[in-house]
Amino acid sequence: MSDRMVETCRHPPVTIFQAIGELRTLLSEDTISTDDEDLLAHGYSEWSTINIAQLPVAVAYPKSTAEVSQIAQVCHKYQVPMIPYSGGSSLEANFSAPHGGISIDFAYMDQIVQLHEEDMDVVVQPSVQWMQLNDQIKDSGLFLPVDPGPSAKIGGMVGTNCSGTNAVRYGTMKDWVINLTVVLADGTVIKTRRRPRKSSAGYNLTGLFVGSEGTLGIVTEITLKLAVIPQETSVAVVTFPTIRDAAAAAAKIMRAGVPVAAMELMDDVQMSVVNRAGATVKVWKEVPTLFFKFSGTTAGVQDNIRMVRAIAEAHKSGDFEFAKDAQEQKKLWSARKESLWSMMALRKPGQELWSTDVAVPLSRLPDIIEKSKKELDDLGLFASILGHIGDGNFHESILYDNSNPKERDAVEKCVGDMVDRALEMDGTCTVCPNPFLASPSEHHFPSLTFPAPFPTASCLQPFSLHPFPTTISLPPLSQPHPPYSPFTQLNPLPTRASTASALAKKAPWSKSSAQRR
Ligand SMILES: Cc1cc2nc3c(=O)[nH]c(=O)nc-3n(C[C@H](O)[C@H](O)[C@H](O)COP(=O)(O)OP(=O)(O)OC[C@H]3O[C@@H](n4cnc5c(N)ncnc54)[C@H](O)[C@@H]3O)c2cc1C
Repeated sequence: MSDRMVETCRHPPVTIFQAIGELRTLLSEDTISTDDEDLLAHGYSEWSTINIAQLPVAVAYPKSTAEVSQIAQVCHKYQVPMIPYSGGSSLEANFSAPHGGISIDFAYMDQIVQLHEEDMDVVVQPSVQWMQLNDQIKDSGLFLPVDPGPSAKIGGMVGTNCSGTNAVRYGTMKDWVINLTVVLADGTVIKTRRRPRKSSAGYNLTGLFVGSEGTLGIVTEITLKLAVIPQETSVAVVTFPTIRDAAAAAAKIMRAGVPVAAMELMDDVQMSVVNRAGATVKVWKEVPTLFFKFSGTTAGVQDNIRMVRAIAEAHKSGDFEFAKDAQEQKKLWSARKESLWSMMALRKPGQELWSTDVAVPLSRLPDIIEKSKKELDDLGLFASILGHIGDGNFHESILYDNSNPKERDAVEKCVGDMVDRALEMDGTCTVCPNPFLASPSEHHFPSLTFPAPFPTASCLQPFSLHPFPTTISLPPLSQPHPPYSPFTQLNPLPTRASTASALAKKAPWSKSSAQRR
């Protein structure tokens, strides 16, 4: 474990223990865990750049929507925050518990409820892992094309509105969710829609919950659209002399309308990580590289390859190599999917991984990537760039020594400059509190701060499903607060500023933005 400080809730309100007691009576004793290891696993993530000096006070393991509703009713009664937890693979403290509370893990809700082959949809519980789902339904000729971290589960994928390497062709999670069964903060169970793919009747409640990070409701059942497994798939790897050439070729391919199934960028360092990890038999050139996936009919795939080859050549591409068989295709793609873990495996003792996530309009990609790569190289640390380049999205991964203030400050400045640059280009980032509200002058990095001036009144609270309608100070139980409505979450909950100052006292790495600059 990292030397970052992680604590259980120091002074949890006594009401949480009443809630735990009541839940143990209502459900079975083993539905609620307060085991230290369990709390750590549900409030701290080794691969998250961001971690909070606080853990949940308990973890609940419900077995049904009815049990989730009972948990929510008790938490509502005692005003205990709830934090849904599925695969735990999210990278930005999404499931952390800054106010303690109860983490709700769906480990026992992992069933494929119904596959409707003819309708091309499937009903699942939140703890179904996407890769297992695809494996189990492959004989139907259908698959879910959204592919985030290999261990992600459907509940969390809905929570984050995740994407993946296939997003350039198939879109993100929001495009694949038909309806949701949701338990609201007071235990009310709702279903957002029925099963037809198309409906414009009423509010788009499904869209409201997808991407709400567990702050508006707890998703207990999901109906997903499925796509037809393509007739043919081919994977090609193309090298470029510079990262700018690779990014420019990628932007051109998108603009030309070539329907690539995936298009991923890896820089020279990341290619060396693939080689070092021994992911494939072949040793790849350690230069900027684009990975392509082509899929469709045999004729369509050949046509797409021809067009991509022509554009790549116009951008000084080198080798254009194909995976030799389905096995190598799989290995190559999983090397890309698991690159984060490959990077982490190369950490030296005491090193931490800082991973970033920015996206810019497609035409600005070559500019931002070239400049960011130069600044990354200038750090003199082990640092790489890779990206879902077809969506204008890329990540930097930097290994650094968190106990060395000089090194940490240099990394922080490098990341800060990149994020500023992205925002100046009308881009976005997920390492700022609210990518929609942030501007270059007000963005912050939660990994270092839960910081200061931030208009909480106009944004959602991205941490926990909180039964408090307006404020963190608990009303006496004799004065019940107004009934929950999802929209009360729009009111100011505990502000980031107050969270920040509380954390600043505890977390040595928590500094204000002004201090950083
Ligand atoms: C190697 C690696 C590669 C990755 N690649 C990508 C990528 O390409 N694209 C991408 O988008 N992400 C990627 N991720 C991040 C991660 O896989 C996604 O964010 C994924 O959607 C998280 O799913 P999870 O089940 O792990 O969710 P968790 O981490 O458990 O939870 C994520 C969020 O959803 C909420 N939540 C969980 N379950 C529920 C529920 N039942 N109801 C309501 N809210 C819920 C949680 O409270 C939390 O806010 C990657 C991660 C790793 C480790």
